[in-house]
Amino acid sequence: MPLELVTIPCLTDNYAYLVHDGISGQTAVVDVPEAGPILAALNLRGWTLSDILITHHHSDHIAGVEELRAATGAMVLGAAADAHRLPPLDHALTEASHFAIGAEGVRVIDVPGHTVGHIAYHFPDSGLVFTGDSLMAGGCGRLFEGTAAQMHASLQKLSLLPPDTLVCSGHEYSTANLAFAATLEPGNGALISRRAEVAALRSSGKPTVPVRLGVEQQTNPFLRAMVPAVKAALGMADADDARVFAEMRTRKNSF
Ligand code: ZN
Ligand code: FE
Repeated sequence: MPLELVTIPCLTDNYAYLVHDGISGQTAVVDVPEAGPILAALNLRGWTLSDILITHHHSDHIAGVEELRAATGAMVLGAAADAHRLPPLDHALTEASHFAIGAEGVRVIDVPGHTVGHIAYHFPDSGLVFTGDSLMAGGCGRLFEGTAAQMHASLQKLSLLPPDTLVCSGHEYSTANLAFAATLEPGNGALISRRAEVAALRSSGKPTVPVRLGVEQQTNPFLRAMVPAVKAALGMADADDARVFAEMRTRKNSF
């Protein structure tokens, strides 16, 4: 049975997510921008938090961890590589780590770029991937610590997941991300449809996440550095994909 997913808006434009196994009752949260909205979502459903999964060390993803841990007694999991700058971890994770929420095995994927110790959590049976500030709906995180080559490789890895996987990312940035995408591919029909869908969701106050990976592959320029029209739009028809990706990331910074 797939896990139940709840999307929780936090702070101004962050998202946290709950994943709940109805059989065991086990419930995890991915990222804790603040504890209040997460505790409210748990209380509303009568769920008990068992695990706190951290994607990366930035304060808008971890600020509420200690309050939530104190309130629930949940275990805290995060990247071993960043253990020195995360809240104290009960389980320090690498790509080789195995853990489960209910009966579902969770895979850890290293996705450096935004930060060097950034990880994603893949729930293959439920078709969910929690990407934090690596792959984001319509875009990707800024390169605060890693290189463009690292981020490009990280997104390539995520892009290999099944196309019906739901991408659960850390912020509501879709409108601006897709406006940038449209400067590169104004004639992309999937992008035109997705922008209309995002506009409708936002005007009714709804999140634009999660989004299917297959939609991202058709609309997110950071997954499309190999597409001839994207290369041409950047004046880089003959450049390799990694250079095209790096140029795109640079231009997005000043968009
Ligand atoms: Zn971040
Ligand atoms: Fe963030």
